[in-house]
Amino acid sequence: MNEEKKDVLREVRSHLRYRELMGTREVPVTGNLQNKAGGVIARSEATRQSPPTRDTRRSPRPSGTRDDKQVALDELNTTQVKDCTKCRLCEGRTQTVFGVGNPDADLMFVGEGPGRDEDAKGEPFVGRAGQLLTKIIEAMGFKRSDVYIGNCVKCRPPNNRQPAPDEMATCLPYLRRQIEIIEPKVIVCLGATAVAGLLQTDQKISRIRGQWQEWDGMKVMPTFHPAFLLRNPEMKKPVWEDMKKVMEYLKSTTAS
Ligand code: SF4
Repeated sequence: MNEEKKDVLREVRSHLRYRELMGTREVPVTGNLQNKAGGVIARSEATRQSPPTRDTRRSPRPSGTRDDKQVALDELNTTQVKDCTKCRLCEGRTQTVFGVGNPDADLMFVGEGPGRDEDAKGEPFVGRAGQLLTKIIEAMGFKRSDVYIGNCVKCRPPNNRQPAPDEMATCLPYLRRQIEIIEPKVIVCLGATAVAGLLQTDQKISRIRGQWQEWDGMKVMPTFHPAFLLRNPEMKKPVWEDMKKVMEYLKSTTAS
């Protein structure tokens, strides 16, 4: 396949993923488009049902295997996080919500903190916003289990209020340790509170979303929180543009 055809395919796939994210279930196929794109439009339904998976394997890192990393995460959880009472958020929680996913993930998502559903289940991003995040992940060509998902604070703030700066600062060492263990290539920071908590910046999310940031030598992409997208669906498009930058970067770092 020549380069021009590859570019067309890339654009069509990207557009299909964006349309899927916007809730489109069917895409009309025209003969011209089908021919030009080598028939990829006709695969859009199959793509929706079975998201394309990206080869996320990478060179072994000296710091540990996937199993080592899982053991380290489990130990952090059971010995420090699970029964933590370092800040007032412990008072209202049902349980701590540590994080979930691939301990050796290239891509990590960080939100602000658990809500009601997450507090009940003990897993981050399982409510409506979490379902949208899963759609975004799948539109990017991953399964939810390919990535790692965590939060700035591990306990649900009362009435789903934002975590206070001192609460985030107290909990941040746990997130820092998770990131050190997982060593993702990219962290996607979801929403203003997570951006403020992780990047220690007072810049507005609307100003820095879509612009690469650095945290401890790692690349961070700030973007809007999925809960914000549920209220403002027109903002899905800029988020998708941000995710395209993440996909491009990951692709550039993956050995062929
Ligand atoms: S939010 Fe973090 S620091 Fe505060 S009690 Fe929960 S685990 Fe501990």
